[in-house]
Amino acid sequence: MKRHVIACIPGDGIGKEVLPAAMAVLKAAGEKCSFSIDVRQFDWSCETYAQTGKMMPDDGLDRLRDHDAIFLGAVGFPGVPDHISLWGLLLPIRREFDQYVNLRPVRLLPGISSPLRDKAPGSIDFWVVRENSEGEYSQIGGRTGLGDDEIVVQQAIFTRRGTDRILHYAFDFARRLDRKHVTSATKSNGLFHSMPFWDERFAAVAAENPDITTDQYHIDILAAQFVMSPERFDVVVGSNLFGDILSDLGPGITGTIAVAPSANLNPERRYPSMFEPVHGSAPDIAGQGIANPIGQIWSGAMMLEHLGEEEAAALVMQAVEAVLVDPELAKTPDLGGKSTTAVFADAVRTKLLEL
Ligand code: ATP
Ligand code: MG
Repeated sequence: MKRHVIACIPGDGIGKEVLPAAMAVLKAAGEKCSFSIDVRQFDWSCETYAQTGKMMPDDGLDRLRDHDAIFLGAVGFPGVPDHISLWGLLLPIRREFDQYVNLRPVRLLPGISSPLRDKAPGSIDFWVVRENSEGEYSQIGGRTGLGDDEIVVQQAIFTRRGTDRILHYAFDFARRLDRKHVTSATKSNGLFHSMPFWDERFAAVAAENPDITTDQYHIDILAAQFVMSPERFDVVVGSNLFGDILSDLGPGITGTIAVAPSANLNPERRYPSMFEPVHGSAPDIAGQGIANPIGQIWSGAMMLEHLGEEEAAALVMQAVEAVLVDPELAKTPDLGGKSTTAVFADAVRTKLLEL
């Protein structure tokens, strides 16, 4: 029997509730599809930070290295500034393991209503591919001058290698999905150097992929298009900043961040990829057992897909959708129901075993 060794980092707040709930579902999918999941748990969190001054031990990255994937809940807690959890855990993992693709499905699930009017389940169904390693999020720049004369410079870094590899990923991914259209997010009318370069590379990579059609929009009108006609997209590729914004707008138009998943991928599989829900640790509801586990379960389905367990991944999502439309089964309070994390996840597990 195939065995997948997974590093689980539940983290803080509701991460500690939704991750074990999701893992039970994934293990059931394993039973059904004849593979096992070997969980290695790492209790690294803002609690660890409060006790040791570090989010993870010095050899933390080395301890993660040999796993098939990393399954993360959420990190962050009131009193610990966001940059601590970000720079102390998330970013080092993304960097060390060269997870240069951030992939997010934008799909309206049945039983969940979009804030946009008259959208049927499945009518919104596309993917955002965000560049996850360079671009606008750089530490290069600085502040100089005093008072009214202060000047701030923030540099963006676009490398040819970094740009080409994310564009290639987007085209390859569209081909794999058999959704042969890629949309590029640009702003070459405002950003004088970086975006004309991005457009140039997009055109070059598009020319290497003649079976795939393309278009490009400036980020401002693209954001408006996400709201006005989200049905038109298949795969949308953007730089780190534009991709970041679009990949939260996506969950916004499909109802709630609580159900949205994400993958931080090292497509070459030289290092482990990391799968985590879009939501954070939600301290306002942590400890009550009412968090919606769908974002974590869906992230788990993406992880199974990445591990080559496509059938199991599809079963997990089929089970989630079946529970969402079953009038006998309650949803969690964020979706207007009265269920708990454990009861909802167990209903998904039971459905899955019945499929
Ligand atoms: P962090 O600092 O870890 O990002 P946060 O509170 O800033 O945490 P989120 O955790 O994403 O941000 O929460 C934003 C809002 O969405 C909160 O009101 C939270 O309760 C709600 N929320 C987030 N995830 C879930 C979930 N899985 N189920 C129910 N509600 C959720
Ligand atoms: Mg937050």
